[in-house]
Amino acid sequence: MRTVLCVLMLLTGFQLASGNPQPERPNVLVILTDDQGYADAGFQGSKDIKTPYLDRLAAQGVRCTDGYVTFSVCSPSRAGLLTGRIPQRFGYERNPAPLREPHVGLSTNETTMATYLQRAGYTTGVIGKWHLGLHEVFHPNVRGFDFFYGFTHGGHCYFPEEYAARRVNHPDSEYLTSLERNGEELEETGYLTDILTREALSFIRQSKSKPFFLYLAYNAPHTPMEASEKYLKRFPNINDEGRRIYAAMLSAVDDGVGEVTALLDELGLAENTLIFFLSDNGGATRFNSANNRPLRGAKTTFFEGGLRVPFVVKWTGRLPAGVDYKLPVSSLDIAATAMALAGVEADPQRPLDGVNLLPYLTGENAGIPHDMLWWRWQDHEAWAVRRGDHKMMNWHMDAPGLYNVRTDRSEKNSLLERYPEQAEELRRIWEALDQQMIDPVFPAPTPKKH
Ligand code: CA
Repeated sequence: MRTVLCVLMLLTGFQLASGNPQPERPNVLVILTDDQGYADAGFQGSKDIKTPYLDRLAAQGVRCTDGYVTFSVCSPSRAGLLTGRIPQRFGYERNPAPLREPHVGLSTNETTMATYLQRAGYTTGVIGKWHLGLHEVFHPNVRGFDFFYGFTHGGHCYFPEEYAARRVNHPDSEYLTSLERNGEELEETGYLTDILTREALSFIRQSKSKPFFLYLAYNAPHTPMEASEKYLKRFPNINDEGRRIYAAMLSAVDDGVGEVTALLDELGLAENTLIFFLSDNGGATRFNSANNRPLRGAKTTFFEGGLRVPFVVKWTGRLPAGVDYKLPVSSLDIAATAMALAGVEADPQRPLDGVNLLPYLTGENAGIPHDMLWWRWQDHEAWAVRRGDHKMMNWHMDAPGLYNVRTDRSEKNSLLERYPEQAEELRRIWEALDQQMIDPVFPAPTPKKH
């Protein structure tokens, strides 16, 4: 028996001898969508877009009504998610410009949750959109991921004939790169969302024998708006062409979620897999016909429509099913939760900003996960803080506002004049945390423009 234990310790790195409790080490699956609107899933109340598999996921897990991301555009939001740290701690405060800035990416001084989990013996994979730097020092395979399938740019066209175009001077040229698997360029046929699902199924089948971390980062429903007929024909009743394509793109993701969760069930992994589902930022209403109602604003803004996203956490047998959790949670919590369950501690020099959500979602801890949530975009003179039900914010194109985002989710009624002292207190709280941050390491080349 002792021999078996020793072998186990060697194989897994468990600290059995020290008396530490044995970590549970579930598989971790993070499914990220791109620019999905807050209202755009059945479980979020959508009437025109049916998402039966996402709805089932929500029915089997916890829907976080106040789930936030760390930024209102793609790249810094992903930097926050994967590091578990507020991205301004390392100066990550806008999307790198495609093509012009290949030297810009996620600081190599930062450690991703993939690296932490990889060190703990997890098989790690990222499938889909990377968007954390194009240079080889930022490549997913050197940022903690054993496996990468997808593209490193901020978006991609969805049809194979476009992959081959490689028109360098085309306005969408960064969306026309070849797909790759671990650095090897590939020729593909098929609809991109389906291809990413195919790769996810393959990764799970191959990784089922030890704990895995899969970050499945669909680029749908981000522009360009392209859907295959298989999905378009599901929405004959949506007359607006843009909205119909958007619905079809989301429907392809929904099918993918259905296939992935069915495979986990088939392999007997449902009770050993913690699943997060969320969007990387609010819906880009002007560009992809997303719907963030009842929230105000959209992608890029610091109104709720830019920062609050559809957010589900599911773990069969460990988390309640079909319930809402209404206190604010963050994408920062994903790394903290996964690492706590895997028994991994962060580098003390770079502590996590997230918390282990498990005790909150089970009800074991009735407290609040976050004293506050904090945002900043210096290039836009923008900042925001949420504390309790209140949010104080400044967005460069609007007057500063103080909102009760519990009772006024649409941020229609600023309480600033009524409660100036509360607004001032929130501003001071924001400034105190701001002192811990650094300036953007790659400030905007043309300030104050989107
Ligand atoms: Ca996005």
